Amino acid sequence: MSDGGDVFAGIDLGGTKILVLIAGADGRVLGQARVATQAAQGPEAVIARIADTVRAAAADAQIELSTIRAAGVSAPGPIDVAEGVITDPPNLPGWHNVPLAKTLHDRLAIPTLLENDANCQGVAEHQFGAGRGYADMIFITVSTGIGGGIIINNELYSGTSGAAGEVGHIGVSIDGPTCGAGHVGCLEAFASGTAIAARAKEMIAAGGLIRTARLAEHDPPVSAKTVFLAGQQGEAEATALIESAGRYLGIGLASLINIFNPQAIVIGGGVANMGETILGPAVETARTRAFAQSFTDVRIVEGELGERAAALGAIAVARDAVAKARI
Ligand SMILES: [Zn+2]
Repeated sequence: MSDGGDVFAGIDLGGTKILVLIAGADGRVLGQARVATQAAQGPEAVIARIADTVRAAAADAQIELSTIRAAGVSAPGPIDVAEGVITDPPNLPGWHNVPLAKTLHDRLAIPTLLENDANCQGVAEHQFGAGRGYADMIFITVSTGIGGGIIINNELYSGTSGAAGEVGHIGVSIDGPTCGAGHVGCLEAFASGTAIAARAKEMIAAGGLIRTARLAEHDPPVSAKTVFLAGQQGEAEATALIESAGRYLGIGLASLINIFNPQAIVIGGGVANMGETILGPAVETARTRAFAQSFTDVRIVEGELGERAAALGAIAVARDAVAKARI
């Protein structure tokens, strides 16, 4: 039950799952619900499922829907934050210019706003997780893709059109593979889970990564996790591949450190769970490429909030919008 303060809903709309948390302004979770997105069914079915999941989370929190002051939605980009529209997300097939914030507001009678998923995770780590107490903080998530959120002077920096923080698209090479957005040489194309898996497949096709290939036969497809596990089992070539991704990640970290001179960089996402194997080379590369004072002053830490981060960040975004009378 709520203690009488405002209560918010945080909705994490992902390609595979919808997670809804109900929480107070301090981020203390009162209830939750989760379902599979079933994105292939298209926007109408998914929006109905989101609304049902918010109702289920409110029931779990033992509150009336009408007592929810505002809702935030963490959604995959690209999105139009100001209009609350999901424009063209690659992992939600059939979604094109869907006015999600307005539609949910109409269905649930709760003021709703939309924010990019990586920005939400960054806000969450800043407010409730590993980034607490750091006024200037960069969040980077290394997962199937690479995203980020920039916190300057305790505020999310959104940029002119709400599209800032695309740290996965820092250029690290003049050529090479293309990223999810079709650019050449982006960090994401060298250090994301997708990039590691793609490189592993090339190496397997050329007769390399024998243990990785064997593991993937039992548990397909080849993924970054398969490569990591093979490395754990002693395949030096697999560990070298992860370390190489780590060095590219370090080039990205050095750019962030040199440009923003932050107090902290918080690293989240599934690939970051590989720990020292990828983060060791990343930090070492960052050290050699960043200005010495800036490197000395930055704390590089792992995220604390895991898969709850996006929904918690959506709650913080909704709460802050209410505080500023933006919704
Ligand atoms: Zn790119």
